Amino acid sequence: MSWNVRVDRELCQGSGMCAGTVPGVFALDDERARARADGIEPDERVLDASDICPALAITVHDGATVIGPRRD
Ligand code: SF4
Repeated sequence: MSWNVRVDRELCQGSGMCAGTVPGVFALDDERARARADGIEPDERVLDASDICPALAITVHDGATVIGPRRD
């Protein structure tokens, strides 16, 4: 099962922390982040990036379930 990563570019503050954490998954365009691909292989670092995003702009989906950011 692959994961889907969404970045809300309206919320993104352009800190670059996600791209610094998982450069293969996130990139910065015009000082806003985007996901490089729609479906990705499960990777704990992507959940870490979702957790640390200061704007809570990154959501990670496993099918219909939102798995990031983690609540606990
Ligand atoms: S960590 Fe969040 S605020 Fe920073 S660039 Fe990534 S999506 Fe934008």
